[in-house]
Amino acid sequence: MTALPPQTGEDRTPDDVLVFETAQTTWPHYAQRMAALERAELSPAGVNAWLHDWSELSKEAAQTGAVLGLRADLNTADEAAQSALAAYRGEVGPPMMRAGQVLRRKLLAVQDYTPAPDMVLALRRMQGEAEFYREANVPLEIVHAEQMQRYAEITGAQTVNFGGELTVPEAEALLGSADRKRRENVWTAMSASREAARPALNALMQDLLPIRRQLALNADLTLPGTQMGDYRAYTWRQLGRVDYTPQDCLDFHAAVLGEVVPLAAEIMGDKARQLGLDTLRPWDYSRRTALDPEGRPPLHPFESAPELEAIAQRVFDALDPELGARFGLMRTGGYLDLASRQGKMSHAYCESLEHADMPFVVMNVVGTSQDLGVLLHEIGHAFHFMASSRAQPLIWNRWSPLEFVEVPSMAMEYLALDQLSAAYLPAELERVRREQLEGSILFLPWAVQMDAFQHWLYTQSAELSIADLDAKWLELDRAYHPWLDWSGLDERERAGGWQYYHIFRNPFYYLEYAMCSLGAVDLWRQSRTDKPGTLARYKAALSLGNTATLPELYRAAGTQFRFDAAYLSELMTFLMNELKGAL
Ligand SMILES: [Zn+2]
Repeated sequence: MTALPPQTGEDRTPDDVLVFETAQTTWPHYAQRMAALERAELSPAGVNAWLHDWSELSKEAAQTGAVLGLRADLNTADEAAQSALAAYRGEVGPPMMRAGQVLRRKLLAVQDYTPAPDMVLALRRMQGEAEFYREANVPLEIVHAEQMQRYAEITGAQTVNFGGELTVPEAEALLGSADRKRRENVWTAMSASREAARPALNALMQDLLPIRRQLALNADLTLPGTQMGDYRAYTWRQLGRVDYTPQDCLDFHAAVLGEVVPLAAEIMGDKARQLGLDTLRPWDYSRRTALDPEGRPPLHPFESAPELEAIAQRVFDALDPELGARFGLMRTGGYLDLASRQGKMSHAYCESLEHADMPFVVMNVVGTSQDLGVLLHEIGHAFHFMASSRAQPLIWNRWSPLEFVEVPSMAMEYLALDQLSAAYLPAELERVRREQLEGSILFLPWAVQMDAFQHWLYTQSAELSIADLDAKWLELDRAYHPWLDWSGLDERERAGGWQYYHIFRNPFYYLEYAMCSLGAVDLWRQSRTDKPGTLARYKAALSLGNTATLPELYRAAGTQFRFDAAYLSELMTFLMNELKGAL
């Protein structure tokens, strides 16, 4: 792998970190070493060394893909970056997948091999992947990835015309304005911007749906009684969902509808009353920008990205010296790109650079308290990667199952709450705390709506038009967000709400956020009486990476993997009591 530039004592920037050699973007660079692994005589005693070599090669390829992906997202207008990513995926992706399948089969065929403890689950996953592998899906997954990348190109170019060209996050921040007319105006401008992007996103979805169905069909997964691919069953296999069924998810949807939607409506109704509003219009509610019931202007804890970094450093230092040092490593190492700018994809995420053993966090900050919350979240992911990559040398054991991946990030939003005096005055802290608690309740209907939409979308046996998708989203939005008054407004805007990042780029990956939010709330509940113990268990669970099952990971963190109605009800009661206590 490319050596990182020598350290001069100066802080590094993303340009120093997101580097690769041209050779690493071509298949011949990997082909010989993959072929050597294929040819190797493999005895039980030799497996560990062989796995190490395979893992190191995989890290190099994974990091090259991650760097190319980051460069494409950080500047969606950079055509060279877009085509470099597409070329890498097209050239290296298919032979790498094929070679991976050969190596998995080779490993699984070794007689008398007893896996080391850290390989037990990885081996089980490889077994599943080997059975799930279909040659026909190798080129199709490449096309799928290319299509999904179009989402970044479409939305990265999106701006909002509101007294100048704003990025979407810049406009979104204005939805917290205490001036209702201003909120309405910015919402109208954002609607116009979404309207402009809609045809391209509709067309993209019409391209994605048949590809996804075909992937499932190629894997012999069809909807009952039809010849249509069952993409829900496909993602269940692809995402390794072994601990719960689609029916468990549908039951959870019903529980949230019965238990949480009324609480969310109560919270929003109280806000409306305090503000003297008869009804809540769409510009009075944004998941990302909480409206203050006392009509105060939004909090503005920082001006610039470096200022946010300095605040976060104080927060993490106060929370835990080890975590503070790890955040410091990211800051000075150039592993953060936080500022909002045009042409940068507007979604926040944490990527891993497997060879450097370092995470990289992308955000689009504009100075809001939500930005600080999102930073705590993304750095929670970064801590997860750092803890798991330092404890787990093999690439297959980093991170964790997806249903735990959001626990480190969401729990960090809560665990850091008490340290936020680095950013806020005491009166402001109360407000932030309230917004965090309310936000965790208001989030659940949205998360479930996203999941319910996808369960419907991928289990219909008829061909779907965009009008069908719009109608379904409208039906769900009325059920899960009944407190919003859209009367007299163009409902096309409401109906198009399904045009969201995950629907395009991470199909079916959403309910995990809701599952993990329950785990995070439970960790916070425990930290109220035992902060050091909670933090210690948090860090221990992160280090396990992907070597433990979901129930084991939740247990290691001191909580449980549950999302049934009784548990949901228990946690909602806790949150509502905390909220009442905060009054
Ligand atoms: Zn996350």
